[in-house]
Amino acid sequence: MAAEMKKSPSPETDSALIVVDVENDFLPGGALGVRAGDQVIAPMNRAIDVFLKEKLPVLYSRDWHPRDHSSFQQNGGPWPPHCVQDTEGARFSSDLSISKNPLVFSKGTNAAQEEYSAFHARDTAGNTVSEVLERLGVRHVFIGGLATDYCVLNTALDLLKAGYRVTVLTDACRAVNVAPHDGEKALEKMIAAGAMMMTTQDLGG
Ligand SMILES: [Zn+2]
Repeated sequence: MAAEMKKSPSPETDSALIVVDVENDFLPGGALGVRAGDQVIAPMNRAIDVFLKEKLPVLYSRDWHPRDHSSFQQNGGPWPPHCVQDTEGARFSSDLSISKNPLVFSKGTNAAQEEYSAFHARDTAGNTVSEVLERLGVRHVFIGGLATDYCVLNTALDLLKAGYRVTVLTDACRAVNVAPHDGEKALEKMIAAGAMMMTTQDLGG
């Protein structure tokens, strides 16, 4: 293929990246492993690199459940126990690039509540993603991670509802696909709500 002459679009100065739930339990072999979930790591790292080089914010969300979380099957929920606080399964993949002093936001910390969206996930000081984005003057959020049909979907929809521009990094997402086409349907839902789609290959840096 000939060398491309056209410049790839770079994230603008009002952009931020949200890395959704790239935790061991969501990777193959984990308690709630997403098929090919590990394939998000290389593109996610590429995006993280671009954002950090541009000195743009990178936010990491994580499922961070108490042991008795209501989403677990033994408590009547749909999922096997996963991402229990302070366990190996809840840690970010050791292959994921983590920025210095990373902005980490935990969700699903209330046993009684499922929380797919990272929009109201909190850092250790109690600030939500929503508050931090606003404080940083972010208007455009790039998003990738796990899983397309749950946490990426719900985070993107909340961001769009709040008026952010949202670009989904499609090669940096994988779906659970409880039903066969859930991942594709999730992408369609996000597009219908106004999200843009691109791959990390097209992310300038
Ligand atoms: Zn969960």
